[in-house]
Amino acid sequence: MAQLIENCPRCGAKSITFDMLSDHLFALNYSWQRVVEAFCVCRSCERSTVFILKQSHTDYERIFDNGLHSYESVVNRYVEIDGYVNIKYLALRKSPEYVPENIEEIFKEAVTCLSLNCFNASATMFRLCLDTATRSLLPSNDIDGLNKKIRRSLGFRLKWLFDTKRLPDSFRELSSCVKDDGNDGAHAGTLASDDSEDLLDFTIALLERLYTEPEKLRLAKERRAERRKEQANQSS
Ligand SMILES: [Zn+2]
Repeated sequence: MAQLIENCPRCGAKSITFDMLSDHLFALNYSWQRVVEAFCVCRSCERSTVFILKQSHTDYERIFDNGLHSYESVVNRYVEIDGYVNIKYLALRKSPEYVPENIEEIFKEAVTCLSLNCFNASATMFRLCLDTATRSLLPSNDIDGLNKKIRRSLGFRLKWLFDTKRLPDSFRELSSCVKDDGNDGAHAGTLASDDSEDLLDFTIALLERLYTEPEKLRLAKERRAERRKEQANQSS
């Protein structure tokens, strides 16, 4: 059985020996570099960690031939340790395309919380996403009944945006999760999985409407203009 010397993320022991019980080859970089996930058990705390290990040199191919774990010694010189499998590898919902960077960051935090079943925290972050995105839709003057209260509150603001046709009415029903759930998430801490999923759906729909669709349209128009220009050049 192979051994790996590394710090243990479970008990904190430094440069401790791990026994490698198994490994799984999952990638080949540059047509030579094997990348494996290795199931290892710490000799100090006897708990397991899955390390990500990359072949460190082209010459070491044979070490991987029968499975890295079956090598009868310490494998450190043959591999680069590229961390271990942890929470950051969770499959997360991607932010819609062409969303401004600051909103994308908040969205990422929201879906990370959601994936960890931290529903109230995720609701608060989705609300912040919506808050940031819809603020930019407000005119600078108080027209069409706009006032301070509407400017301040996400719930009132959304209602005003629908009422004044600044957002499509078809989104109104989806948005009902905001007033109740968002407030609950921030103040009462009573949200469940479904509530957060509702907020996720509405946030994605709204961000796509505000950022993804206009940008895709702009890019399509740009390509169209390019084609027309090429045609004109060819025919002249
Ligand atoms: Zn340990």
